[in-house]
Amino acid sequence: MTSISVDKDIAERWSRKAQERGRAVIDFTNEQLSMNLERYEKLRLLVPNYTYSIGDDYLHVICHKEKATFSIRAKDSHLFCEEDNSTECFHVIYALATPEVNKLWLKQPRFHATASDPKESPSF
Ligand SMILES: [Zn+2]
Repeated sequence: MTSISVDKDIAERWSRKAQERGRAVIDFTNEQLSMNLERYEKLRLLVPNYTYSIGDDYLHVICHKEKATFSIRAKDSHLFCEEDNSTECFHVIYALATPEVNKLWLKQPRFHATASDPKESPSF
């Protein structure tokens, strides 16, 4: 067992989410972290020629085989690949499989809606 520190507001939101899911915080945390670790490992196994990095507005998908980088950003309610001018290319699909993809959505104004304003909530 290891202890970590997180920001208070995140801890409170996390605790509420665990409660919503009917899980103890420690069980919920272990499950979520385990799933993210699996996601990293599966992505690396399934797409070994690709890696990625994430910036403030872009997730850069790096294809080592083609020696090319593809810039993915959130655009309206989709992800958009700048190089392919597409919302459906493999680079977008790859980006969607990364745990960090949510950082792109967080910049979208519609994702800052409050729970009391459901019409402003994001839809997928
Ligand atoms: Zn692409």
